Amino acid sequence: MSIRRSAKTAGRVDDFAIKRYSDGFHEALVELQKTNRSEATVATRARSTAPAIYLTMPKNQDSKKKKKAEPWYADGLRFECSQCGDCCSGAPGFVWVNEDEIADLAHEMELDVDAFEHQFVRQVGAEKSLKEYPDGDCILLDPETRKCSVYEARPIQCRTWPFWDSNLERKKDWKEACSVCPGSGTGRLYTFEEIETQRKQKSV
Ligand code: SF4
Ligand code: SF4
Repeated sequence: MSIRRSAKTAGRVDDFAIKRYSDGFHEALVELQKTNRSEATVATRARSTAPAIYLTMPKNQDSKKKKKAEPWYADGLRFECSQCGDCCSGAPGFVWVNEDEIADLAHEMELDVDAFEHQFVRQVGAEKSLKEYPDGDCILLDPETRKCSVYEARPIQCRTWPFWDSNLERKKDWKEACSVCPGSGTGRLYTFEEIETQRKQKSV
């Protein structure tokens, strides 16, 4: 048989030890109140020789639980793309793509995967990235319209900008992103959940 109970009294929990009473549960509760302790779980267990009551003290578990710090962007962030194309051009960089993304891009361009890879993808160590023009523009940025030529099938890295790990780590990282992307920090308010959904899609 096992009985558990909680008894609340004022005070701090410290070194409450196992106590044994030969004649019952009631004395154990009285003892608890006398000892001025905050919370106790009282358990009785039958033993083969004599009944025993175990008093265990959970040491203020609630107060000890560390409150998880809220991310600095818990109230959401604003973003509205102005289609300026700046994030697809300029200084050299990488647009990482996996096999699924390559297949989607190839399909969007009505090419077979090998032909697409040959023309638009480069190997970087063990990873693959889209090629660039010599001036650093993404190979899939239309040079005339300055728009993405595969917008509907653009890679996750492009879809999830600016809600990347690297832009969200600290407030100053976000400010930096805002300084290079005119759409970041303005327009629609994305909720924390929406941001997290995007951030978790890929670690960038
Ligand atoms: S830099 Fe920002 S606003 Fe301009 S195209 Fe990229 S995401 Fe949109
Ligand atoms: S794939 Fe499209 S959205 Fe992504 S960097 Fe290239 S042009 Fe820009």
